[in-house]
Amino acid sequence: MQKYDYLIVGSGLFGSVFAYRAKQAGKRCLVIDKRPHIGGNVYCENIEGINVHKYGAHIFHTSNKAVWDFVNSIVEFNRYTNCPVANYRGTLYNLPFNMNTFYQMWHVTTPQQAHAILEEQREEARTKLCGREPANLEEQARLLIGNDIYEALIKGYTEKQWGRKCSDLPAFIIKRLPVRMIFDNNYFNDKYQGIPIGGYTRLIDGLLEGTDVRLECDFFREFCTGSSSDDTKICWQEVADKLVYTGPLDEFYDYRFGKLQYRTVSFETVVEDTPNYQGNAVVNYTDREVPYTRIIEHKHFEMFGQEVYDCPKTVISREYSTEWKPGMEPYYPVNDDRNNELADKYRNLAAKESDVIFGGRLADYRYYDMAPIVEQALAIEI
Ligand code: FAD
Ligand code: UDP
Repeated sequence: MQKYDYLIVGSGLFGSVFAYRAKQAGKRCLVIDKRPHIGGNVYCENIEGINVHKYGAHIFHTSNKAVWDFVNSIVEFNRYTNCPVANYRGTLYNLPFNMNTFYQMWHVTTPQQAHAILEEQREEARTKLCGREPANLEEQARLLIGNDIYEALIKGYTEKQWGRKCSDLPAFIIKRLPVRMIFDNNYFNDKYQGIPIGGYTRLIDGLLEGTDVRLECDFFREFCTGSSSDDTKICWQEVADKLVYTGPLDEFYDYRFGKLQYRTVSFETVVEDTPNYQGNAVVNYTDREVPYTRIIEHKHFEMFGQEVYDCPKTVISREYSTEWKPGMEPYYPVNDDRNNELADKYRNLAAKESDVIFGGRLADYRYYDMAPIVEQALAIEI
């Protein structure tokens, strides 16, 4: 096998941006991925002419112009703006919480009227706290947005999502939900947002063009001799001068301190024989009784106006929050004390490696949106 400058484990966004930059710098890279496709969690599968976000809805958003310009230099992004809708027992509300939501909830038409109701409900929450800080998500939410919105739009959704009661969840989770006193359904505050025209796989294709890629190739089975006596394995140092590792951090060290935990989601994807199933890309189901947290209708990420009807079918995914078990796809790190301490032990080992670059969400054991992942991969010295 020829010798490369870099062996890159993982063809997700981090590995692919790194590979692109290395190639620009005249380096030779081999990218491997254990999955049968490139792109990691941003991979889109084309079903009935629709780009289906196989690992969950992905909306690119950033205020960093350099990141936005970089991704647009690979593939142009469209004008998709995320405006999710919440369905609570058959009644629809706009998200994030804004004047439209307050109108739907209380029939108030001015910010002053909405503010008066919010303040009345916040005062009730303050009184209950007797001067102390909110100790859990339930108390934080009531203080932030009042009882009516908490009961209809937060409680059921959050409890389904985390599999725990709001009174047992940390307050900080809810702090990032924006509250707007204007009629604005745009979920993100960022300057730029959109979806790559033709889907995320086109973005990854563009990043990996001209780079050697091997799929269904597990680093630990094929490139890492470790302590195993399996002599079909080769050591990565025989293949490349440096390693870029974007897989799980604990696996790299053979779980020697114990296994890190994750939260996961499962998807039930169905082709519906109608051009327009729910009229929006994202509808959250906020009551406890509906078992899924949301339904994604993928075509609305990329088809607008008449285009929706020019494509006769549609693909929807019902999303279920599931407790993670080893062997399942690891999605969100569980940043509680036990896992953070364990991750720190592994990070200390990683910091001592001289020929290995650890990058991306799994190797750092932190949740990152796509834009920060691109930013990190752009910042690394090649
Ligand atoms: P990954 O995409 O996980 O790539 C890692 C790759 O490494 C994988 O392909 C894996 O197969 C491979 N790998 C692992 N171990 C090995 C091994 N031993 N051998 C070979 N290959 C290996 N971000 C946003 O900005 N907007 C959103 O709307 C958004 N929605 C999301 C929804 C969900 C459900 C999830 C889970 C995440 C979402 N994100 C979103 C975050 C986004 O998915 C990540 O920022 C991004 O995918 C991280 O890229 P990565 O390269 O670090 O990881
Ligand atoms: N949330 C909620 N109702 C909604 C949407 C969000 O209560 O309809 C809460 C929920 O607790 C969730 C948090 O807001 O964990 C953050 O939601 P966001 O959509 O920003 O993050 P994601 O679900 O993508 O992790």
